[in-house]
Amino acid sequence: MNGRVQAISAINKIKPTKTTIPYKKENSLNQFGENVFSMSVMMKRLPKDIYKSLKKTVDNYSTLDASVADVVANAMKDWAMSKGASHYAHVFFPLTGATAEKHDSFLAPDLAGSAIAEFSGKTLIQGEPDASSFPSGGLRQTFEARGYTAWDVTSPAYIMESPNGATLCIPTAFLSWTGEALDKKTPILRSMQALNTQAQRILNLFGDNSGKMVAATCGAEQEYFLIDKNFVPFRPDIQATGRTLFGAPTPKGQQFDDHYFGAITDRVLAFMFEVERELYRLGIPVKTRHNEVAPGQFELAPVFETANLATDHQQLIMATLKKVAKKHGMECLLHEKPFAGINGSGKHCNYSFGNASQGNLLDPGETPNENAQFLVFCAAIIRGVHKYSKVLRAVIASAGNDHRLGANEAPPAIISIFLGDQLSEVFEHIKNGEATCSTEACMMKIGVDSLPDLPKDAGDRNRTSPFAFTGNRFEFRAVGSDQSVSGPLVAMNTIFADSIDYIATKLENAIGDDPSKLLDAVSDVVKKIINDHGSIIFNGDNYADAWQEEAAKRGLPNLKTTPEALPMLIEDDVIELFSKYKVLSKEEMHSRYEIYLEQYNLKVDVEAKTVAEMANTIIYPAAMRYQNELAESCLKMKELGIDYDKSALKEVAGLSLDLKAAIKTLEDLITHESDDALDEAITCCEQTLPAMLNIRKIADKLEGIVADDLWPLPTYQEMLFIR
Ligand code: ADP
Ligand code: MG
Repeated sequence: MNGRVQAISAINKIKPTKTTIPYKKENSLNQFGENVFSMSVMMKRLPKDIYKSLKKTVDNYSTLDASVADVVANAMKDWAMSKGASHYAHVFFPLTGATAEKHDSFLAPDLAGSAIAEFSGKTLIQGEPDASSFPSGGLRQTFEARGYTAWDVTSPAYIMESPNGATLCIPTAFLSWTGEALDKKTPILRSMQALNTQAQRILNLFGDNSGKMVAATCGAEQEYFLIDKNFVPFRPDIQATGRTLFGAPTPKGQQFDDHYFGAITDRVLAFMFEVERELYRLGIPVKTRHNEVAPGQFELAPVFETANLATDHQQLIMATLKKVAKKHGMECLLHEKPFAGINGSGKHCNYSFGNASQGNLLDPGETPNENAQFLVFCAAIIRGVHKYSKVLRAVIASAGNDHRLGANEAPPAIISIFLGDQLSEVFEHIKNGEATCSTEACMMKIGVDSLPDLPKDAGDRNRTSPFAFTGNRFEFRAVGSDQSVSGPLVAMNTIFADSIDYIATKLENAIGDDPSKLLDAVSDVVKKIINDHGSIIFNGDNYADAWQEEAAKRGLPNLKTTPEALPMLIEDDVIELFSKYKVLSKEEMHSRYEIYLEQYNLKVDVEAKTVAEMANTIIYPAAMRYQNELAESCLKMKELGIDYDKSALKEVAGLSLDLKAAIKTLEDLITHESDDALDEAITCCEQTLPAMLNIRKIADKLEGIVADDLWPLPTYQEMLFIR
């Protein structure tokens, strides 16, 4: 029996979903945060002064008083052991995008032959994983082979449970001995500081001297696919690369739009409830769930949190989705484009910043003062995105996301901003120095120029823009489903810090000692920004071809592929920007550039090898078997002297020949090696990927011809609709 048939018959035997959570006895919501060493746990378990010192560090991202570490470590250990934990792990986020952890037990033998549990402040604060095989992009060759992990106090420790034990997990930064960031967390923390420093200057000008930390916030909507686990062993492509490298389109795809927000099946719903429960227990505020556009595609969105925490939680969300799916007999695919011709998956990164005294700073306010402040921050975003759109493009570049961007379902590679008609109108009026606007009651005199009243909720939505204003935040939609949100957040924090710095300097100079000049100065600088950078605003259909031409006229970069986008990370102005705000040094930028290129090359290489192998060992043999069957039949017919049709045989034979030739071309490319990573990436992009696609086209044609019982690969129809 071929694998495909085996998979389907196994699925047919699956029993109706059983209840695994006693939800009537215990409401999941009550379990929120039970596995987190949260502020409230600390308040209960720590001496008052130590709790206060720690809280200050967490609230302001200020330096930790190392003398508190021993007491905290001890309290953490006792709490963790009360939850069954026997081990602790420093969790860190290497540049591969993965989550890494090194486990140690609390166990320390005493001299009398017994053991005690031990966890010192020193081991809490700093770890030394032997993590020298993570790529460092040259950072460590020149310095030290080893990296060390440093406790991130701002992201709470938590307990990770497994069937046979529990581990205390401590989020950490991962650095070289000389302090270079080897991870995705360190730059987030640094960029949050940079943004805060600059935003405080604006707040001071507007009279807020509270000094409350302005923190970037992120709410990331995670899209994913679910397929039945039984298919996976028979799809080496999904196993090795997370996406299908073969597969003819299904007769029924997503054309009916009947999946979007449709009723969720029991099996999937049982999975979702369990995912959410696990995440609640880890203190992750997941809120929204629904079916997505494509069959088998779903979305999960948490309530936003500060950027650093949201990033750590995002990693846990991805891990939990994968883990719980397996438990429910399914495989969760996070790849940006698991199925050709079907919508891909993104991770819309909702972004804003705010502080405890003002709330969300991208929320249009009620008063002229608040509105002016909102316009300042909004203008900073417009300037930042325009000036550094290439950076935003580079941080979302990956082999997977290349298949999704611009594929008539996701924003194109051109970065632009959607402001909505109302807010655009406001900026348009400012630009033209007009005091009126079309909607009634929106006049608002502030100083010489006037700013119209701002819409509270910009009702219009645009789903085609890569960077859209959605009423009180921006949504960076080009981020891929499999990506860490760290890169996008670091980029946004840094480019906006730079623009806020620019505006603050202009305002400070214009105002001097006379605060009454503030609103005039605001009008001037917003006007200048909209004049210089307004071309980044586009409210039309980003999927339309006309936009490509229009964007080119406006001089907006259109970096279509990863090898085009990644070099932006090491352009002079970009390196200068990241160094200036002490987010990433020149060396650190180069290391990222190199590692991301290498990741791209490795991904394409694995995909190419998988295509060649599947074509050689699965698809070609299937074609041969069918060809043989047809040939035998033809011969017999000839013997019997009955009329027969050779066309199917000819077609299969022709395609089989083409297939062999196409495999040969790809195999030659696989053996091609280059010392230069960028050269290699360009070859991958311009030659290897098309060669893979060429094989796929032939194979997909064969799928439509070869007898169904001889076709071994589970089909799109089966994987997308049998669940
Ligand atoms: P939609 O699908 O309509 O875009 P969702 O409800 O799926 O909206 O997701 C919106 C996301 O935006 C949520 O994660 C939400 O918490 C987040 N969000 C809301 N306000 C902010 C904010 N101020 N900063 C960052 N993210 C925010
Ligand atoms: Mg959504």
